[in-house]
Amino acid sequence: MLPSCSLHQVSAHVWWFTPESRRDRPSLAVVAGAQESLLLDVGASPRHLAEFMAALDQAGVPSPARAVLTHWHWDHVFGLGGFAGPVIAHRATADRLMRMQTYDYSDAGLTAQEAEGLEIPFTTTCMKLELTEAERRSLQLRTPEIIIDDRLHLDLGGVECELRHVGGDHAPDSVVIHVIQDQLLFMGDCLCDTVYTLPRCMTRSRVLPLVDQLEDFAAEIHLDGHSPAPIRRAELQRWIAFIRDAYASLDRIGLADRDQVKADLLGRHDAGIVDDFLPSILAGYNEGCVQARSANAFCSSLGGIDFWLKSTDGDACLHQRMPRRNTPL
Ligand SMILES: [Zn+2]
Repeated sequence: MLPSCSLHQVSAHVWWFTPESRRDRPSLAVVAGAQESLLLDVGASPRHLAEFMAALDQAGVPSPARAVLTHWHWDHVFGLGGFAGPVIAHRATADRLMRMQTYDYSDAGLTAQEAEGLEIPFTTTCMKLELTEAERRSLQLRTPEIIIDDRLHLDLGGVECELRHVGGDHAPDSVVIHVIQDQLLFMGDCLCDTVYTLPRCMTRSRVLPLVDQLEDFAAEIHLDGHSPAPIRRAELQRWIAFIRDAYASLDRIGLADRDQVKADLLGRHDAGIVDDFLPSILAGYNEGCVQARSANAFCSSLGGIDFWLKSTDGDACLHQRMPRRNTPL
């Protein structure tokens, strides 16, 4: 029996459908305005989305008219066939979806995609748990109707959303949704590292501009793609402070003495945050994951699954599976 997701109202206008790690289901949400409800991500399958819609119906929340995609990863877009309204996405997300429409997601097709480096065992294992082979054969990965390049402002009636492209290591097309009146930021997976390219990494050139942008929203509540609880502003600030300080420490001590860097940071930061972020920061300190992307093959272990990954796609990546410390509402 797989665990189920549950519906929670987390602010005046936002209902959140919790993530579920067995199938890698991400957070979904609806922003309900007086004139329109907006769906944030469409989920890992039409079934996942239908469960969310049923929970919303039971709670008396109006069905969403339009949807926004945070990025192209399977668990955020495979529910597209279950949503009838217009879909809003970044141009790079739309381009990626057009390519994915040509891919074969049958069992044999997924094996071939793993061999080509388009998918990895972690994602294909979760896809097979979420969707039957017949469902994967008939996936409807339609092209988004509304394309954004940088930002889009939506007035839903009494509540406004700003959709903003923020990029980052995890997926270059990452978009966040700022629910202005609720001081809530739906982040997708943007603050996760790049793990399709092993080792997992964060690069200074991508993560520091990203955290500057996240900080500028000054939101009180943050919904992360795979975190089991909303993240308060103070907790996000601790993460951001750590990320900035980690680069300062590395610049001062040097990458050669990793133990010294870790000890230095543990003197100022919570051990859980150090464990969550430092390995990826170390791995990408010399912008190393860019080099890894061009390597022919490399081997590692992800969540107990050992695999070879042939890296053929520069922007392919997967969410970080590390648990993040959270302050439940
Ligand atoms: Zn992702």
